[in-house]
Amino acid sequence: RVAYVNGAYVRHADAAVHIEDRGYQLADAIYEVWAMSDGRLCDPEGHFARLERSLGELSIDMPMSRAALTTVLKETVRRNHIRDGLVYLQVSRGVAPRDHAFPAEPVPPAVVVTVKRVDPQAAEARATAGVGVITTPENRWGRCDIKTVGLLPNVLAKQAAREAGSAEAWFIDADGLVTEGASSNAWIVTADGVLVTRDTTANILRGVTRATLLEVARTENLRIEERPFSLEEARRAREAFFTGAGALLMPVVAIDGQPVGEGRPGPVASRLRRLYIEEARAAAI
Ligand code: PLP
Repeated sequence: RVAYVNGAYVRHADAAVHIEDRGYQLADAIYEVWAMSDGRLCDPEGHFARLERSLGELSIDMPMSRAALTTVLKETVRRNHIRDGLVYLQVSRGVAPRDHAFPAEPVPPAVVVTVKRVDPQAAEARATAGVGVITTPENRWGRCDIKTVGLLPNVLAKQAAREAGSAEAWFIDADGLVTEGASSNAWIVTADGVLVTRDTTANILRGVTRATLLEVARTENLRIEERPFSLEEARRAREAFFTGAGALLMPVVAIDGQPVGEGRPGPVASRLRRLYIEEARAAAI
């Protein structure tokens, strides 16, 4: 296996950053994840745009142009001989003696790329069966729109899900509203057939898969609402699912152990998953 670290392709086992990297010490770093289909990057523009936005919010310069970064991402994929999986990019502010404030003299950002294989058949089997989610109180900071590596609440939520035999955890805010998943955006098809996902003016990550899926859904004869929905509404929904570069679109068949709808993947989720995958493959670079 091969990773990209600060300008070089190195053996994954030898890949390392400095102990005073600010990403390591302070989570002063952001990341992006692209799904990869047949060796190509899915939703490239959406992820680049969000990368630039996350970096901008942290006042870190883009470490290289989009074109150069595309080359690095694709070259890392190529050297790993992986066709289907996930490409992970992390950019930290760089290495400096520990101090909360930015280094007075700017340092070069640290750039790391790794690749992970995903078995498309196993993913398809999971989607055909559907998965369960648990719920957990929303306890994250107020800037979930920044894709920072500061993910401890998400880590603890996902671990709780795993221990409960579930695939994902949905955060529930103080008003009983579903914000999003630990690593995905949440959706329902309401009892009267409306496709609902939370609007991105809220404190959630602006999922790239979410945005593309909305475009796909708009070509279908579906009523769509971007608005908050409550856990109560989700429990009464016909269908539920979540989206993200990792899961693509994953039907949810149970919330906290209670079946959603008929307790199996619904027709809207199944159709949208197929349409999303077709669209993402067609637009991949
Ligand atoms: N929400 C959170 C908290 C995430 O970590 C992710 C992705 O990892 C998403 C939503 C989905 O975003 P995307 O579709 O861009 O992968």
